[in-house]
Amino acid sequence: SDRRAIVDVFQLGELPANEFFAFAERSFRLFLLGDVDRHAAQKFSSGGIRVRRFRGRWWLAAIRPGGKPDGMWALPKGNIGRGEDPEATAVREVAEETGIEAVSSGKLGDVRYVYTRGGKRIFKIVSFYLLRYRRGRIDDLPAAYRHEVDVAQWLPLEDAPRLLAYKSEREMAEKALTALQEAV
Ligand code: ATP
Repeated sequence: SDRRAIVDVFQLGELPANEFFAFAERSFRLFLLGDVDRHAAQKFSSGGIRVRRFRGRWWLAAIRPGGKPDGMWALPKGNIGRGEDPEATAVREVAEETGIEAVSSGKLGDVRYVYTRGGKRIFKIVSFYLLRYRRGRIDDLPAAYRHEVDVAQWLPLEDAPRLLAYKSEREMAEKALTALQEAV
């Protein structure tokens, strides 16, 4: 299809259509303004709120990313591979970063932020999915992923809105809590 061709030409991987067109619109506006920022790039990632119920409460598989200080908790996530379904990325990345296999219960929402890497501004969009535990032991990671993650650990989901370091990830945890409470 035309959309498939556009996605291929720009090597953007499989993006949700609305995000792709929001990106295209922003790029076009910058082009019209003659304000194309050659030192900027956009990255698309997927991540997961991986939950499990035990001891009478919901738990969340969180990580301390490699090199970050103690108590700095984040959600597992990673780059969407070229041609990869963002939902599949979420399942794959959380398995690689937490050691746990899961099934997706659907999308929770998107998180956007900007950071600088090597003098380049990176605009990142991360789509988060609600994932249910299937099997595996937390922090049982393939050696190749250990440098990205210091430790993976179950945190009580109800404490996640306080424990997660990034405000946007705390909001995703709130959404997961609401979705799970409504499902009961
Ligand atoms: P890259 O994708 O460029 O290889 P990375 O895997 O480290 O880098 P991120 O985890 O997105 O990517 O981290 C890039 C920067 O953004 C870091 O400085 C991190 O602290 C910050 N960051 C990560 N998540 C968020 C967020 N939800 N809100 C704000 N800043 C964030």
